[in-house]
Amino acid sequence: MNKPQQILIVEDEARLAALVADYLKAAGFAVQLCFEGLGVLDLVRAQAPDLIILDLMLPGKDGLTLCSEIRAESAVPIIMTTARVEEIDRLLGLGLGADDYVCKPYSPRELVARVKAVLRRTQGAVGGAPEATAADPLTLDPDRLRVRAAGREIELTAVEFALLSTIYEAPGRIFSRERLMERIYRDHRVVSDRTIDSHVKKLRRRLQELLPERELVHSVYGVGYRYEDR
Ligand code: CA
Repeated sequence: MNKPQQILIVEDEARLAALVADYLKAAGFAVQLCFEGLGVLDLVRAQAPDLIILDLMLPGKDGLTLCSEIRAESAVPIIMTTARVEEIDRLLGLGLGADDYVCKPYSPRELVARVKAVLRRTQGAVGGAPEATAADPLTLDPDRLRVRAAGREIELTAVEFALLSTIYEAPGRIFSRERLMERIYRDHRVVSDRTIDSHVKKLRRRLQELLPERELVHSVYGVGYRYEDR
């Protein structure tokens, strides 16, 4: 058997941390706990964990600072957890480089699923044989605004294509509506969140023509959208 992957949980709510640790251990991971912000960096250097679950509000040093400090020296996958969904939008805007964001209260089961998804994604990217790309069913043709899959082809509108290619370039990464609007309307036209939602809805319908059994564009409640083929 392979050595279990090591997850570092940085969380000051001890009971929550212990609960998550139990779920991760049951899923075959090795777990390390840290209940405050100071000392996290040393721990990361010493232990080189395979993934970090990092809470935003921590005594000693906050998750925001820690995330950028860790990023400055390591590409270790980071899942940020926060108590407020509005916070996630702000964090996304800061471009911290976390790999995923999870809002509290979360179910430990969901968090374990996200851990696995992030590890699959990031290890694929590092390992040189990207699982995601191999399994990626879509081919994008930007010159003709066309998408191919399963031997079929559809043509998208310019907006639908811009939406898809934006999230497609970074599978698994969550894009806030705001960020998508910036990418799509380069003239900074003011459009409402609902406009993005309705374009996404149409895009999803179009993609279903190619792959009726697959959901590729996922919505993250209250936050935005991501591309993921799972
Ligand atoms: Ca906290």
